[in-house]
Amino acid sequence: MSQRNLVLLGPPGAGKGTQAERLVDDFDLPYYATGNILRDAVDQGTDLGRTAKGYMDRGELVPDELISNVIAERLDSGEADFGFLLDGFPRTIEQAEMLERALDERGRSLTAALLIETSDEEVVRRISGRRTCEKNQHVYHLEFDPPKKPGVCDQDGSRLVQREDDEPETVRKRLSVYHDQTAPLIDWYGDKGLLRRFDGSLSPEEVYSRIRATLATLALEAEI
Ligand SMILES: [Zn+2]
Repeated sequence: MSQRNLVLLGPPGAGKGTQAERLVDDFDLPYYATGNILRDAVDQGTDLGRTAKGYMDRGELVPDELISNVIAERLDSGEADFGFLLDGFPRTIEQAEMLERALDERGRSLTAALLIETSDEEVVRRISGRRTCEKNQHVYHLEFDPPKKPGVCDQDGSRLVQREDDEPETVRKRLSVYHDQTAPLIDWYGDKGLLRRFDGSLSPEEVYSRIRATLATLALEAEI
């Protein structure tokens, strides 16, 4: 059976989370979102986890190499023998080179980098419409998933607010960081023939069916 060693790329608000959930379910892949696997390592109290905790406790960024080692540890655990889905790492060419080395050392290689593309304006529209309840952080969307009563959480009656992260100016800043860091990475994967692009303005169902079709083609190619 061929492996599905996948990286998910795309701006915040492109719907990566939805696609990731389906991919993980359908193909039984372990999902490695940077924040999650760091927290897991900390919870499990591994050596790497303890080192990572030190950085997090001091409010410092966890160094790339440490993240890469945490990923490598998971690759060696057996759970990712048939593939994995990485989200949030790599973000830069340096990180992508680290991942490439880690895979190479294990006689493996990336199957594809899946890029979900969405225009900046669409991202701003999607994210800045989010409202979160003060009590339990239930999430709504003014346009796509409004509460029954404006400004009030359906589930606990608490007030709905816009998180600072979801304000248009903050979203535009995050997008500009994304473009600065990730545009070179997209070219890098493109040059290696690993990049597959998907139109994130389509419905989540349509995006997913295209991703599935692409993975099916890649699996056939791997068998030839
Ligand atoms: Zn609520």
